[in-house]
Amino acid sequence: MDVYQVTLICAECRCESKAILSNAVSEALCGACGAKVLKARRFAGVVYVMSHRKVSGVKIGMTRHDVFRRAKQISGTGVPGHFTVMAAFPSSNPMKDERKVHERLVRAHLAKEHFELDPVVAVAKVRSILNREPAFLDRDIEPAVSQLRQEQRQKALGRFAGPDATGVAKPPSPVSQEDLFSRMEPKEIADHASRTPSHSARFISVLFSS
Ligand SMILES: [Zn+2]
Repeated sequence: MDVYQVTLICAECRCESKAILSNAVSEALCGACGAKVLKARRFAGVVYVMSHRKVSGVKIGMTRHDVFRRAKQISGTGVPGHFTVMAAFPSSNPMKDERKVHERLVRAHLAKEHFELDPVVAVAKVRSILNREPAFLDRDIEPAVSQLRQEQRQKALGRFAGPDATGVAKPPSPVSQEDLFSRMEPKEIADHASRTPSHSARFISVLFSS
């Protein structure tokens, strides 16, 4: 059982109060005036993206239990080293959400939970498929995920803007890693991945060097 102490500011009387939250306690009242200051909602599970230094691609799956324990469970089967949780997205129906993600990423599917995608691209894709923020995001890939997302947003804006006032179409924006993967057949993705370092830290440097 996870137990947390949270510090809250009451919106009614501005008093600060501390409350204990756990699996069994999901509400907190203000210690001074009794107003309800917090109501926590428990999700049924998460959809996760995990990566491994020595394995190309990522694992995308779901668990109703501790995602970090799940990472330990699937580590150490054959390959030395361990899987790291890159992102975990909260879900009220993890099985349904996992199926949705797997269907949308079918072109990069290798086997079971294994997908031939760079961790950063995978996290950005799952985020857009499920249309929600991750409950956990690995600090090392956070800047690269934000960067990729910003590029996508600008690209989407450019698409809506069309030709400018002079009637001259804007030059096409440079091809992003995202485009590269979406245009590739699975075989090409595998070739590309084998030529490029799979670890996210190195991918970040690639992303920022251009
Ligand atoms: Zn109060």
